[in-house]
Amino acid sequence: MKALCWHGKSDMRYETVPDPKIQDPRDAIIKVTACAICGSDLHIFNGVIPEMESGDVIGHETMGEVVDVGSAASHKLKVGDRVVVPFTIACGECFFCKRGQFSGCERSNPDKAKAEKLWGHSPAGLFGYSHLLGGYPGGQAEYMRVPFADVGPLKVPDGLSDEQVLFLSDIFPTGYMAAEFCNIQNGDTIAIWGCGPVGQFAIRSAILMGAGRVIAIDTVPERLEMAKAAGAETLDFMKDDVYERIQELTHGRGADACIDAVGTEPHTTASFDSVVDRLKVATFMGTDRPHVVRQAIHCCRNFGTVSIVGVYGGYLDKIPFGSAINRGLTFRMAQTPVQHYLPKLLPLIEEDKIDLSVVITDRARLEDGPELYKKFRDRKDGCIKVVMKP
Ligand code: NAD
Ligand code: ZN
Ligand code: ZN
Repeated sequence: MKALCWHGKSDMRYETVPDPKIQDPRDAIIKVTACAICGSDLHIFNGVIPEMESGDVIGHETMGEVVDVGSAASHKLKVGDRVVVPFTIACGECFFCKRGQFSGCERSNPDKAKAEKLWGHSPAGLFGYSHLLGGYPGGQAEYMRVPFADVGPLKVPDGLSDEQVLFLSDIFPTGYMAAEFCNIQNGDTIAIWGCGPVGQFAIRSAILMGAGRVIAIDTVPERLEMAKAAGAETLDFMKDDVYERIQELTHGRGADACIDAVGTEPHTTASFDSVVDRLKVATFMGTDRPHVVRQAIHCCRNFGTVSIVGVYGGYLDKIPFGSAINRGLTFRMAQTPVQHYLPKLLPLIEEDKIDLSVVITDRARLEDGPELYKKFRDRKDGCIKVVMKP
């Protein structure tokens, strides 16, 4: 089959790789009908994710049609079913899965020992996300093997198109979780860093949950426009002093909650900490560039919440913990336990409360993937979200 394979920093190739096969009775194989590129894939593309191997098939926002199913998953899935596949791989039976914390599954990461060395404990395995998290071939491909297929995949109800449901695989649940972490009370002010696809769904979810005011922060004009169209006020971090502006907008108190939907690769700005982060990472003296976490902490009101869904990898420097402890902040963060959110989020689509396709700017073939990675990373020509069909 054909797939998008990673061969190093900024080097994605459309190549022929072996077809996936059922390896376990709980597996299924899907023929991919649509897949997307996630901001998390950009961290791989930019070479900041460890334990990648040349030739790895990546991609974790995938849906398709079941073409083969193992005996132990056949009570849940049939050949011909249309499914969306959560990016988090989960067994459904362990300590964490039983609690709905699917992205903490303790059985789905065969590379557990490596992850434990870096993080103390291992999270769940993920599709197409390095040999720290299972080395599972991803879904930017013609076919994908889905482990624990009796647990993860969501059967798509008739009448819903691929574009209406594809982002249930990751970015809609992620944006929704980011807002849910904020425990929004009627009228709250929520500040959101990053108006990429995840930020866009965090904005829309915060509004659905009753936020009075959403302040969305980015610098890319069309992303700010899209945030405005959803009902947010916007700040441009290259022009505005974000802290001062949030102070003004909140009568000097700070935002009720702050969401980081940017992660470890923010733009480098002129601010001192941002420049130091850049130097440290470039000289292997640091693992991450947590400028947004620092700013979100300072901009959050006393006893407010900092909700982090932007991805970080290692040891974050110069986090203003003094500000957080002395002012009673709550931190919430996770790789999204997608399976937990699906029963709640599918009805929002069916009832037309949200249209997931609004973020799609580029529709293309899988073979165009290598170029699209560059376009999405460089935010060129208005590119916000790419959907590909094999
Ligand atoms: P994206 O790269 O398209 O969007 C990031 C946005 O942040 C861009 O629009 C960029 O201009 C903006 N930005 C950069 N520096 C900024 C700053 N200093 N202040 C405000 N905005 C800034 O990516 P995306 O797909 O929207 O994903 C966003 C993050 O969420 C990534 O880190 C991704 O890895 C992460 N993610 C996490 C999960 C999860 O389960 N927690 C799931 C999906 C994505
Ligand atoms: Zn993702
Ligand atoms: Zn489990």
